[in-house]
Amino acid sequence: MSEYERDLYIIYGKEGISEDEKEAVDAYWSLDGEDSKKFLCYVSAAEGRYGLEAGTLSKLVKENYWVTGRYSAFFCVVCGERTFVSSRAEYLRIKKNSKCIECKNREERERVGLEELRLVEELRVQRKFEEEQLQADYSVNDLSYMESIFIFLWLSDKNLSRDVKQIISKESTETITGITELDDQMISQLVAKGVVLVLDGRVKLKDEISCPYDFLEISQEVFLKVSKQYSSAYDLCDKLHEIFCSGNITITDIDEISFAIKSVRLNNLYSVVDWLEKDRRIVIKRNIKLDSLLQDLSSRYSLAKCTYVMFYNAKAVASDIHTNIRSSVVQPHLFTKFTGGYLKRGDEMNLTVRYTKVVPYSVETSVFEALVCDTFFDTEYNWFSLSPKEVLSKWVGVMNVSEENV
Ligand SMILES: [Zn+2]
Repeated sequence: MSEYERDLYIIYGKEGISEDEKEAVDAYWSLDGEDSKKFLCYVSAAEGRYGLEAGTLSKLVKENYWVTGRYSAFFCVVCGERTFVSSRAEYLRIKKNSKCIECKNREERERVGLEELRLVEELRVQRKFEEEQLQADYSVNDLSYMESIFIFLWLSDKNLSRDVKQIISKESTETITGITELDDQMISQLVAKGVVLVLDGRVKLKDEISCPYDFLEISQEVFLKVSKQYSSAYDLCDKLHEIFCSGNITITDIDEISFAIKSVRLNNLYSVVDWLEKDRRIVIKRNIKLDSLLQDLSSRYSLAKCTYVMFYNAKAVASDIHTNIRSSVVQPHLFTKFTGGYLKRGDEMNLTVRYTKVVPYSVETSVFEALVCDTFFDTEYNWFSLSPKEVLSKWVGVMNVSEENV
């Protein structure tokens, strides 16, 4: 008798068992002494040895005997109850996963129940999407000034022929305004207004849906709805351009315009950071400290003055690294530290920056700046020579600001 067998208890469920039958059942449950997952003999061999008809031993065992044991596998991991098995297959199953049959069945019922609930919820979300989001229309009057610019920029850059699928891939570096942060903000606002639809896997644009709209794909799962009020995307595009040029805005539009201007400038400053790293051969750590430093700097001066401040401090970092031994952990933080200190000293001494430095070629104007400058400024480089506050007042200064949307 093997170690394992000693730990198995065979319970005989009927009276008057013959010696042969008992031995056949023992043979059926004989385990390999080395490996508790292996049985010593084939069922057919045991049948032959004890004179049983072929194919009857498994049935006999199943109907009349139960086996349990000392192993932890014989106790259900869920309810803790002792488990009984009546076939080799069941024995091997509980060795792998010691759940009693009741617990196993209950979990299966629960899983099926949850799956049904999930399907019902999926259907509900899809129906809501089809009935509400797909059917609702919008007009350009529902859009804020910046949202109009955003959609205009997107449409004007595209071939609006109906047979061409309009795609700006999420993976590509292409942006609509030229500034990722601004794109994200505009898309999330337009999603909230139902103008842009995001198919996040929970809802689908099924072919069979009868839908009164055309959709233009912004990126793989982001679609711009074309309003029923305009006969084509060209019409919509023209209307948006008209709104942009009219310069009619409300007081609430000013916040969005200000956010856009700040995002543009921050984007410019990050391009300066990229350039400084190459030009001065230093490493500048991108983190929240750098971000708030750049925001502070950009709120104070024109891009040309910011470039001067950043260049001056990057030069100081390069010379510091050259003369002092700085660890590779400290080095990337020096630029933020030096520039922060520079601004602080200036504040304490009540000094302001008078110098400018030519903005490097790698700092490009975004399509958004180009569009605004083309219509409202003399040249796009004027934007560079102004601080964000000055850009705002120059731009808003020539627009018609009203209290609210008429
Ligand atoms: Zn159980």
